[in-house]
Amino acid sequence: MDPILQGLNHAQQDAVTSVSNVLQILAPPGSGKTKTLTSRVAYLLQHHRYKPWDIICLTFTIKSSREMKDRIAKLLGGDIARRLVLGTFHSVCRRYLVTYGHLIGIQKGFGIADSSDTMAMIKRIIKRLRLNVDAKKAQSRISSSKSKGLPSPDQQGGHTTWESAQKPAQKKTLEQQEFFTVFEAYQSQLAKSNLLDYDDLLLRCVDLLRQHPACVSNVEVVLIDEFQDTNVVQFDLMRLFAAKNKRITTVGDPDQSIYGWRSAETKNLQKMKHQYPDTLIIHLKDNYRSSGAILLAADEVIQQDMSRPSKYLLPTHCPGTMPVLRRLPTPEIEALWIVSELQRTVGLTGRLLAYSDFAILLRSASLSRQVELAMGRAGIPYRMVGGKKFFDRLEVKILLDYLRVISQPNNNDAISRIINIPARSLGATTVKGLLEEAETRKVALWTLLRNSTQNIPRTKLSKAAEQGLGSFVNLILTSRNKILDVSNPGSPETILGYIIEKLDFRHYLEKSHAGDQETRWANVEELVAQASEYTVYDANKWKEDDDLPNIEGLEQQRGNAAEEAMAKFLANIALASELQKEEEDLEGKGKGALQSQVTISTIHAAKGLEWPVVFVPSAYEGCIPHSRAEDTDEERRLLYVAMTRAQALLYISCPTKNSQREETALSPFLSTKPVGNMLVNQGPTINSSTVNDIAQILRRDSPTQAQIFEACETLQSIHDNLWPLTGEEEVKAIGAKWSKWDSNNETPEHPFKRRRIQD
Ligand code: ATP
Ligand code: MG
Repeated sequence: MDPILQGLNHAQQDAVTSVSNVLQILAPPGSGKTKTLTSRVAYLLQHHRYKPWDIICLTFTIKSSREMKDRIAKLLGGDIARRLVLGTFHSVCRRYLVTYGHLIGIQKGFGIADSSDTMAMIKRIIKRLRLNVDAKKAQSRISSSKSKGLPSPDQQGGHTTWESAQKPAQKKTLEQQEFFTVFEAYQSQLAKSNLLDYDDLLLRCVDLLRQHPACVSNVEVVLIDEFQDTNVVQFDLMRLFAAKNKRITTVGDPDQSIYGWRSAETKNLQKMKHQYPDTLIIHLKDNYRSSGAILLAADEVIQQDMSRPSKYLLPTHCPGTMPVLRRLPTPEIEALWIVSELQRTVGLTGRLLAYSDFAILLRSASLSRQVELAMGRAGIPYRMVGGKKFFDRLEVKILLDYLRVISQPNNNDAISRIINIPARSLGATTVKGLLEEAETRKVALWTLLRNSTQNIPRTKLSKAAEQGLGSFVNLILTSRNKILDVSNPGSPETILGYIIEKLDFRHYLEKSHAGDQETRWANVEELVAQASEYTVYDANKWKEDDDLPNIEGLEQQRGNAAEEAMAKFLANIALASELQKEEEDLEGKGKGALQSQVTISTIHAAKGLEWPVVFVPSAYEGCIPHSRAEDTDEERRLLYVAMTRAQALLYISCPTKNSQREETALSPFLSTKPVGNMLVNQGPTINSSTVNDIAQILRRDSPTQAQIFEACETLQSIHDNLWPLTGEEEVKAIGAKWSKWDSNNETPEHPFKRRRIQD
């Protein structure tokens, strides 16, 4: 049998080998959609003799694109996998803009503005123009206009056109007028700083492909995962990428559409059928991910949506262990319960499960604090996904800002953030003055600074400030020269090392962050380790490796290889910190990856992924459904997505009081009788038969008795150290009053009580 088809069921094989030009695979969670899509890519490459760059495959997360690449590498070799145009919409669009952006006036070496950059920019604009606009609202409104494909005011020559695209006949209110002013100033600031924001990456790529369809004249097939969550702009991109011969495969599941709030259009599934009437629909039915019991509970939740056609998840695994729904007094205790269940499970399954097999999925990233705290205290390593933990750390941000300025000196915001770090006698007032001066002269701050001796009236700067400025400019210039040095181009790692040395950064951390300088220094080392992944390609290798093919008649834009390595490093960080991406892509390659870590993630960022054990905390009304959410059905689907990530064990929990100490009600999605019937209120008994079930679901070997005892021993000592460290009064009492937790007055076992496996 063809190795590509091995391990696929009949429906999956049909989808992989289908000769239909337009294919839509519609199927529930865990039915192998992504696996099938990956196999189809491999099959097309193998049997249709396409070149890797003739296929565009778009995924939703960096993690899934990497998994797809790995699988294709196994089937067809690493060389082919590396050259595929396979990645998220944002990363693929960036690649096209890097290569062909100059055709639509995008400057070489553009940077990516992440959401904290855009926020800073918007705030500054509002302040400068003295407008009465809420910055956060403006940010989300700008993004939502862009993701609906509404052109920005500057592209359309002013407010009137933009507005008429929305509401033709209405007169602008003051609020609208002010918003347009912000929007316009924001776009012009981005352009001046040679930055594109996330939405621009897609929108500008649409512009590029509309004006220069030849850029994709080689593309034979376009494949898209998680199609239910694409927006209008992404639909356009699909059409444009596939313009040559309209061969498209999409996979999706309307039950998992959870990005409506970001202008995703489930309608795209139908729209595709209208646009391409010969679309062949293939359904996959069997679920290969989760235990039967988990699927039953998830099914009961999604069935509450009466508007959807009734369909059920079909398990291929054993029923396994009933999912748990547990009410606990407070979020602190809830977090401790999660940690203790986690430890207990690791122990009682005899290390069949490692920390990396556990995920804690949150309705919003802001809920992570309690869980992080409890994990920290118990010494359990974890990583945050969908949050911005690593790249948001101050010391990491400072160094990244230096790199951004070196790579793209027109970035006024980044310069203002770092110009006085370490202190250079350039305080906030001086920097403000410099910015205003630059504004008046209509030049970028960098242009002003670079020529400071001629340009800035000396009287405005103190002697010390002038010196400070000189040393800053000098550092940026020498670092830039290192990148541009043709004979010995500086890699991101070299440049980073150079700045760290020149800034005497370790000393700076000791001085200004005494107390936790070691942790901060470790983060700096981690960043250097990540930078080392980005090597400067020599010209030939670069051409082959990561580049779009040469197309006759289309001039490609080439930076020098070192500039490109740096731009790529920075772009990947910017893309990784976007909500739907995982920092893990970068962090995972660093030292931290050696240790097995629990994943803490938002539910949104967990889409398409799976873990043996999943915890879903804070399942109360107001959190899920979220009090500010407009679409209750979408909130329900979100819970459904969270539940269907679990393979063997699922724990849902709900504190009776939230962090503001207000009484909470259990999420209405969980309080119906049919759902209740599918859940139990205690941590599951874990005995040899349940351990065997888990092993079977995960296709792993069952642990031996000896392994189980050994794991329990170690965990007992962890537990003994855990409780005295918890601090808070309420929580201190837990050890003693464990049984009082349970509202039903049952006496659950102490979670760490050593016990023998029942045979
Ligand atoms: P989601 O909707 O959550 O994205 P999906 O439909 O994309 O899910 P996959 O992630 O492709 O599902 O597959 C789920 C799990 O089932 C994976 O571990 C995959 O390897 C496994 N799987 C898929 N098909 C089969 C099969 N035919 N035999 C065995 N395992 C399979
Ligand atoms: Mg999938």
